[in-house]
Amino acid sequence: MPDRPIVVLTAPSGAGKTTIARRVLAALPQLRFSVSATTRAPRPTETDGEDYHFLTPEEFQARIDAGDLLEYEEVYPDRYYGTLRSEVEAQAEHHPVLLDIDVKGALNVKRLYGDAALVLFIAPPSLDELRRRLESRGTEDPAALRDRLNRAEQELAKADACDAVVVNDDLDVAVEETLTRIRQFLEL
Ligand code: ADP
Ligand code: 5GP
Repeated sequence: MPDRPIVVLTAPSGAGKTTIARRVLAALPQLRFSVSATTRAPRPTETDGEDYHFLTPEEFQARIDAGDLLEYEEVYPDRYYGTLRSEVEAQAEHHPVLLDIDVKGALNVKRLYGDAALVLFIAPPSLDELRRRLESRGTEDPAALRDRLNRAEQELAKADACDAVVVNDDLDVAVEETLTRIRQFLEL
């Protein structure tokens, strides 16, 4: 097992990576979730400090200037997301860490960590199903939904650059496949 292993789940928005990440964390309690920073507004179901560290654009910029972010992206227009060094480095001394980040960020982490990182791409069964899932989640207004679908095609084209692709058609099957790959990587 690598010294300080990092597991990254990445996918176009709506493919199901947050759902899978929750199930993975429940099955493998030794994994610790890296809580990202973001400038987007919290959803009604989300808690600051648990789902994200919700920051103003000024606070986010200050974290960039201080060198606190391992990577960050303007994932959608005016919406920044980034991995805090403190979430990864402090926790990774004792536990493998799980990241749920966009595809560009995931490939940056792979460049930084090499074999110490396992990057799993969670793919939707089709673009139509991705749209249905995003619509049925009901968390985005029409403009934000369009931004997410526009980005999805570019992200799907990068799946092959990841370490493995898990198709999330039947959720239970996808969770099992994800767990198998993580256990293999962590030698559990
Ligand atoms: P992401 O974190 O990738 O944006 P979510 O985990 O929020 O995606 O999932 C998007 C929506 O799709 C949610 O409403 C979730 O309940 C649903 N979903 C996730 N996996 C499946 C699946 N295998 N089949 C049907 N719906 C799913
Ligand atoms: P959402 O707004 O649906 O929670 O997330 C939108 C996208 O931003 C998802 O692809 C999610 O994985 C990604 N994301 C969340 N945190 C980070 C992060 O720290 N860095 C990067 N690069 N992307 C992130």
